[in-house]
Amino acid sequence: MVKICCIGAGYVGGPTMAVIALKCPAIEVAVVDISVSRIAAWNSDHLPIYEPGLDEVVKSCRGKNLIFSTDVERHVAEADIIFVSVNTPTKTRGLGAGKAADLTYWESAARMIADVSKSDKIVVEKSTVPVKTAEAIEKILTHNSNGVKYQILSNPEFLAEGTAIEDLFAPDRVLIGGRETADGQRAIKALKDVYAHWVPEERILCTNLWSAELSKLAANAFLAQRISSVNAMSALCEATGADVAQVSHAVGQDTRIGRKFLNASVGFGGSCFQKDILNLVYICECNGLPEVANYWKQVIKVNDYQKNRFVNRIVSSMFNTVSGKKIAILGFAFKKDTGDTRETPAIDVCKGLLGDKAHLRIYDPQVTEEQIQRDLSMNKFDWDHPVHLQPMSPSSVKSVTVAWDAYEAAKGAHALCILTEWDEFKNLDYKKIYDNMPKPAFVFDGRNVVDPKKLREIGFIVYSIGKPLDS
Ligand code: NAD
Repeated sequence: MVKICCIGAGYVGGPTMAVIALKCPAIEVAVVDISVSRIAAWNSDHLPIYEPGLDEVVKSCRGKNLIFSTDVERHVAEADIIFVSVNTPTKTRGLGAGKAADLTYWESAARMIADVSKSDKIVVEKSTVPVKTAEAIEKILTHNSNGVKYQILSNPEFLAEGTAIEDLFAPDRVLIGGRETADGQRAIKALKDVYAHWVPEERILCTNLWSAELSKLAANAFLAQRISSVNAMSALCEATGADVAQVSHAVGQDTRIGRKFLNASVGFGGSCFQKDILNLVYICECNGLPEVANYWKQVIKVNDYQKNRFVNRIVSSMFNTVSGKKIAILGFAFKKDTGDTRETPAIDVCKGLLGDKAHLRIYDPQVTEEQIQRDLSMNKFDWDHPVHLQPMSPSSVKSVTVAWDAYEAAKGAHALCILTEWDEFKNLDYKKIYDNMPKPAFVFDGRNVVDPKKLREIGFIVYSIGKPLDS
């Protein structure tokens, strides 16, 4: 029986391994983590992450061929295939601070694998890593090998939070990169055999190691670039009277461009896009390609511009100050159907409004008060000037309260500010909300989820991203 171990029980490790366990009943899958609380949550009725469909998958195989454990060393020693899905955040100190990926967690996982392994292993990069990381991992493993043979594969994960299970069940592609030697090809075949239990063969792409590593960074950069492109257009739409939804539709009808990922918004967030583009920028600079680095940097600059533009629009619309005004924030997660708030645009928007002394009442169906308080008191890292900025002052953090539902958040607020496209925000009773707000009552829709016409008929003053003010 093949044994798989995955180091890192996070947003990627947990769902991917649960799906492998479900689709491959003859494979034993152990997901291990150094975080005791995270493993306890995976073993409980309240999984540590929210993903539609995840509960059912985990419950159907947990305790059978899927286990979650903190006994990292034992499961690594027993495994034939070891996925490493640890976090690879942006470095905050030293060489490459603010851009390069921090591979500390990866290196310690690799050293631990070398320490405990007594039999040959296939080590799979599941985390998103800089191109050429496999070379470094190989060095660590082979210099500490004690006679054990290792094959390193790159198998980047393309799931999107919010649709992780759907994406894992029917991936657009599974990418496996390995060495072109006979041993490398045998390792690729072993991993391919795992995915072949449910992924059609034509969707499993096999490449060399560097292509696989770089493809993940490239895919995230292209996705983020589409968002920044449409967001840049949204500013021009507002200036000219064009409607960004109509422009996106017209542009997306071109089959060479396509309609997906062309919705204007307050900006992209999540733990990956910014981090992976920064990583790409750093790699380009290290390889003497400053023009290419600048090209990708611009994607992040437009994203920052869009968030600032949104905050400025709120303040200028509300008679140039939000000081002492109550603003209901609807949605805090970086997208719908997840409770993940890493790099969510809501953090920058809320901090911008708090900077102008607004009082915020925040509601998100999947985000806890603890997460919100933590995120809003966290330092922001400026990658152009890699020094830590001042933390939010404790008095600003006190200007934030958390509501149980959208109606409670909106009661008595001068403005509603929609920051996540949760479906429930489309169908709120906006008349009831309007009646409980001081006038004029404003709506700032950072995700274009409401029909501005209908809300204007009720009496709201509405700002939607990239739309004419009278649409
Ligand atoms: P995460 O922070 O949710 O999970 C990482 C886990 O690794 C944590 O629970 C941490 O405790 C654990 N860990 C760290 N070092 C460890 C060690 N030495 N031994 C055991 N456990 C250890 O991160 P994530 O969102 O799952 O992302 C993991 C990787 O996958 C990152 O490189 C990320 O860029 C990439 N990725 C993420 C997504 C996404 O949507 N979140 C999608 C594709 C790829």
